[in-house]
Amino acid sequence: MSGGAANFKKCGSVLVTGANRGLGLELVKRLASGGFSPGKIIATTRNAAKAEKLQELAEKHPNIHIVTLDVVNQDSIEKCAADVAQLVQEEGLNCLINNAGINVVADFHSVTAEKMIENFHTNSVAPLMITKAFLPLLKQAASRGAAAGSKTMGIQRAAVINMSSLLGSVELNWGERANSFRWYPYRTSKTALNMVSRCMAIDLEPDGILCMVIHPGWVRTDMGGPEAPLSPEESISAVLSVIGGLTEKDHGSFLNFTGEQLPW
Ligand code: NDP
Repeated sequence: MSGGAANFKKCGSVLVTGANRGLGLELVKRLASGGFSPGKIIATTRNAAKAEKLQELAEKHPNIHIVTLDVVNQDSIEKCAADVAQLVQEEGLNCLINNAGINVVADFHSVTAEKMIENFHTNSVAPLMITKAFLPLLKQAASRGAAAGSKTMGIQRAAVINMSSLLGSVELNWGERANSFRWYPYRTSKTALNMVSRCMAIDLEPDGILCMVIHPGWVRTDMGGPEAPLSPEESISAVLSVIGGLTEKDHGSFLNFTGEQLPW
């Protein structure tokens, strides 16, 4: 485990959306058991009663707190922010990981306005609305960090991490580098998420809140499918090293799970 992930130990709280399966579940699992556990791991899911694997983990690790959140429902977002405020109290929220996402499959011939909007709502609009709702808690954590003498940006102060994809890269979808994945709703929703993240990075900077996007690699989850080269363990171990090591030089960046810059 590289040094970056060890910084989670200095982090009071981390919230992960879509934590009941796939990469979200792996993030929670690894944060809880990797030897660098943050104070509180807030694992959100839209149906807590059905999140059996998450419940099993929470039974083993008392710092996991399961909170209900449907990312496309504004009432649910506000209720979740209120529940989390109770949990973290005056310490605020240090790290928000907007991980929940969907892949609406549609090519040029089958795409419809409804399919585009459905994918946009979950992948691009929800991370913006969630970040807005959690802003007071993120600000609280950032200012406590500053008061304690931490001037550097990063997860030990406050950070918003958006799970994007290299399929959202406009530059990579051209010529020899373009691949056969021509699904309009997913690709464009991640491109929009990238721009949402850049805009938020500018707006959050005065409060000392870091914001960036990361590509987790192509991973064997329900979304990634069985052909993907990476296991969730391999992806998330690398992702946590990158997130844990972020500083102001990474603010507003689009990084691969290996830590390299990706072209927008
Ligand atoms: P999965 O399909 O395996 O899991 C998606 C997660 O998002 C589930 O927990 C799901 O919950 C949750 N989710 C979807 N919609 C909502 C909603 N409205 N409210 C709350 N939760 C919701 O995907 P992955 O784990 O593979 O992907 C995680 C993230 O990583 C996504 O943003 C994805 O785009 C990105 N990514 C994944 C890659 C891969 O190869 N796997 C590659 C590049 C990026 P539920 O069980 O309730 O549906």
